[in-house]
Amino acid sequence: PVVTRIAPSPTGDMHIGTARTALFNWLFARGHGGTFLMRIEDTDRARSTPEATQGILDGMAWLGLDYDGEAVSQFERAGRHAEVAHQMLAAGTAYKCFATQEEIEAFREAARATGTSTLYRSPWRDADPSTYPDAPYVIRMKAPREGVTVVQDAVQGEVTFKNELLDDMIVLRSDGTPTYMLAVVVDDHDMGVTHVIRGDDHLSNAARQMTIYTAMGWPLPVYAHIPLIFGPDGKKMSKRHGATGVKEYQAMGYPAAGMRNYLARLGWSHGDDEFFTDAQAQEWFELDGINKAPARFDTKKLENICGQHLAVMEDAEILGEIIGYLAAAGETKLTDAQQTRLLASLPFLKGSAKTYPQLIEKARFALVDRPVSMDEKAQKLVGSVSNGILEELTPHLQSVSWERDALEEAVGRVMEAQEIGFGKVAAPLRSALAGRSATPSVLDMMVVLGRDESLARIADFMA
Ligand code: GLU
Repeated sequence: PVVTRIAPSPTGDMHIGTARTALFNWLFARGHGGTFLMRIEDTDRARSTPEATQGILDGMAWLGLDYDGEAVSQFERAGRHAEVAHQMLAAGTAYKCFATQEEIEAFREAARATGTSTLYRSPWRDADPSTYPDAPYVIRMKAPREGVTVVQDAVQGEVTFKNELLDDMIVLRSDGTPTYMLAVVVDDHDMGVTHVIRGDDHLSNAARQMTIYTAMGWPLPVYAHIPLIFGPDGKKMSKRHGATGVKEYQAMGYPAAGMRNYLARLGWSHGDDEFFTDAQAQEWFELDGINKAPARFDTKKLENICGQHLAVMEDAEILGEIIGYLAAAGETKLTDAQQTRLLASLPFLKGSAKTYPQLIEKARFALVDRPVSMDEKAQKLVGSVSNGILEELTPHLQSVSWERDALEEAVGRVMEAQEIGFGKVAAPLRSALAGRSATPSVLDMMVVLGRDESLARIADFMA
C-alpha cells in the first residue's frame, strides 16, 4: 500500500511550492488507494512557530488536501529519534564524537591552508571507547568513505554521489536533541512512508539520509524529487515574481479547485490535458508524469484554469464560497434577498470570472439594496434624456409578464417609439438597476431583481 506524507517546516507562511508538493503526495496516495500523512517538522525550536503551523493546516484545509489521521509533531518524537541514534551507536554504525567546536574550526582552517578537503574527519570515528573522555559528545554516522551512493529517483533517475564527499553527519547533538536528518528518516520509517515526494533541494539529503536507512537495515522509500517552481524569468519563484504564499492566493479569491488543477499541471503533465477534475487527476497522477525541468509559474494560466472551474462549479457551492470569502474579507453578511439574487445571477455570471472578487464585482447589482448608489459614470446619465426614456419604458414594464423575452419586447417598443438603439435604452437602465455603467445584461438583471425591485429602482433613478 502507498503511504505518502507532506512534512513542512512551520517557519513562515505556507509557500505555494509546499502546496504543490502536498498536492502531488495527496494525488498519488488518493489515486492508489493509499494513505496521505501530515508531519509538522518543528524540530528547529528557534524557527518554528505555532502561527506557522496553523497557517499550514489552514492552507491545507482551504486547498481541500485532506490528510489521514492527526498531524504528527516531529518535535514530540525527539525521544524516539534519540533511541534510534543510540541503537546505531550500539551497532557501531554511528560513533561518539567528542571534538569541540574549536577543534573542528582548527581542522577546517588547516585544510584551507593546505588546500585539502574541509569536510570534517573526526579522529573519534575509530577511537577505542576506553579512551573516551568524560565530556559532552555528539553522535555521528559512520558514513562510507569509498565508492558511491546512488539515489534511485523516480524523477531524476540514477543520481550518483561520491562517498568521499559525504561527511559523518551528526544525528544527535550534545544536548541529546536529534538533527533534522535523523528525525526525517526515523519518522518516515515509523510512519510507514513508502514514497518520499519532495522538492529537489532535498536530493543530496537523500544520499545522506540513506546511510541511516542502511545502518538500521530499513527498506528505502521510493524517492521522487520534484523540480522547484520558477518564476517567468527562470529563477526560483520568490516574492519578486508576485505572491508566493498560499494565503495570498486564497485572499485573492482563486477557487481552490482551480488552484489544485493549476498546481497539478505545474511540473506534472498528462498528455495535453490542461483542465481536469480531482478525480481525473487522482486517476492519472503517476510519478513518471513529473517533469524533470523546473516549471514556470504563470498567473495567466492559473487564471484561465480558475475561470474554467468557476464556469462549471455548482451555483450553491459558489454561493457558499462567496459568503465565506466576504466573511474572511470582513464585509457585512449578505441578506437573504441578496443571496437569492446572487444565486439567480450565477448561471449567467459564473462563466465570465476567474476569481470570487471578480464574480462579486459583476454581481454588484444583486448585492446592493435601494437606494442604489451611483458610481461616477452612472451618475452622468442622470437627467432629462434618461428620464424620458425610462418614463416611456415604465408602463411597458408594468404591463408585461416578467420574463426575459417579454422584457426584451418592452425595451424594443421604446426603441421604436424613440427611434433609438438598444444601447441608448440600456444605458440609463443600467444606471438605475445597478448604479454603474458596466453591468451584466439589463434583461438578466431585471429578471433576477423581479418586477417590484426593478420598477422601484427605476423610479428612484427618476425621482
Ligand atoms: N521539512 C522539509 C521542508 O520543509 C521537508 C523534508 C522532507 O520532505 O523530507 O523543506
